[in-house]
Amino acid sequence: MAKVIVVGGGAAGLVAAWRAASLGHGVTLLEANGRLGVKLRISGGGKCNITHDGPPKALLAAFPADQARFLRPSLHAFGNGAVLDLLRREGVETYTRDNGRVFPLDRPGSAAAVVAAFETLARRAGVDVRTGARVTALEGRAPRLDALLADGRRLDADIYILATGGASYPETGTRGEVPGWLRPLGIPVRPWFPALAPIPLARPRSAWEGVALRDGELRLCAGPGGRRLAAFAGDLLFTKSGVSGPAALELSQAVERARRNGAAWLVHAAVREAQEAVDAGLQTEARANPRLRAATWLQRHLPERLVDDLLEEAGLTRGLMLKDLAKGARKALVELATALPLGAPQPVPLARGEVAAGGVDLAAVDPRSMALRGWENLRVCGELLDIDGPVGGYNLQAAFSTGYAAGTI
Ligand SMILES: Cc1cc2nc3c(=O)[nH]c(=O)nc-3n(C[C@H](O)[C@H](O)[C@H](O)COP(=O)(O)OP(=O)(O)OC[C@H]3O[C@@H](n4cnc5c(N)ncnc54)[C@H](O)[C@@H]3O)c2cc1C
Repeated sequence: MAKVIVVGGGAAGLVAAWRAASLGHGVTLLEANGRLGVKLRISGGGKCNITHDGPPKALLAAFPADQARFLRPSLHAFGNGAVLDLLRREGVETYTRDNGRVFPLDRPGSAAAVVAAFETLARRAGVDVRTGARVTALEGRAPRLDALLADGRRLDADIYILATGGASYPETGTRGEVPGWLRPLGIPVRPWFPALAPIPLARPRSAWEGVALRDGELRLCAGPGGRRLAAFAGDLLFTKSGVSGPAALELSQAVERARRNGAAWLVHAAVREAQEAVDAGLQTEARANPRLRAATWLQRHLPERLVDDLLEEAGLTRGLMLKDLAKGARKALVELATALPLGAPQPVPLARGEVAAGGVDLAAVDPRSMALRGWENLRVCGELLDIDGPVGGYNLQAAFSTGYAAGTI
């Protein structure tokens, strides 16, 4: 039986350690924080969206194609059903929301219950859990790692599993330093990149802080009036410094890429139909209902709190009726409903992302065992890999699946 060290006691590391120990290996789990699963505890706003419902094929389809290819074997070996069975046996009952997201039953501290279940499983299997143990260096060169340093002590093992996570929310323990140790060993690692983060705006609408735009579409364009680069349909929330909510999070990575390329501009479409169709509809409405106020028409699509500000900015008076709308004013009104300009984004913060894109290049990893190619005793799993799924339980599932594969020794 092998002596195994797992570095990182988050979603991936806990599963890797439990799995290796339950196969009879002697496992030590090193976690920098004073307790395990700190990021898991804040996941899903403390409720923990554990995974997503559906067959493996549907889950894989949510990831970019190269990531889906990589995840296929591990997700088939340890998919959402296996995760939920395991948790159920530890007393964590779950439910599935209409949108397919799976959560523990609503109770205070439900995310903590998920961590407790995995910790119990790991300890029961015999894992030696050491918290407050930050690894600071790796020793060795391909094809073998010889040892690692944890808080000044040199520790060695037959097999090392790195599950140190990404680089967002550094206060949860993920400082993103591991790529800096792997690159000198010749292991290809893509730079960390912001993802699933709120988007700051150059001209934030602070006065609208807390206002949500429901069921519209956030669009990323190559400059004002430029071609559409990407879009995401979903709720958007104004914050003090910009925008957040599902649409902003999902688009944030593309926004940051476009911004770094020098051409990023955001608009919001409350109405997703073509401007011509909305304009035609407005003209029909004006004939049928000439005394309807422009403000009332706009309120059908946008929250009241925004409408006064927007009409004023467009130079339209609040009492203006549809029958008195000149062509230019009508076009301005249509534009507010179909392409409300939010303007240029500011740098998307890596630290505030639900994941960090980037990480160990998937081409350097065997997707069945998570072993690094060219290495005999080094494996990586979880967010340290170049995997970033959308919001919805996909990222934790990827961490559980790859952790299980890494622990299958
Ligand atoms: C606010 C927030 C909400 C989220 N909500 C969800 C959600 O509801 N559903 C979902 O699917 N995903 C969610 N995610 C993403 C998900 O939490 C991560 O993808 C997942 O935790 C990654 O698991 P991991 O084990 O790879 O990394 P982590 O869970 O981050 O664990 C890595 C561990 O390694 C430790 N570590 C790092 N470096 C060292 C070192 N040098 N030595 C020792 N230990 C070290 C860290 O302290 C950390 O505990 C959320 C993320 C955030 C930030």
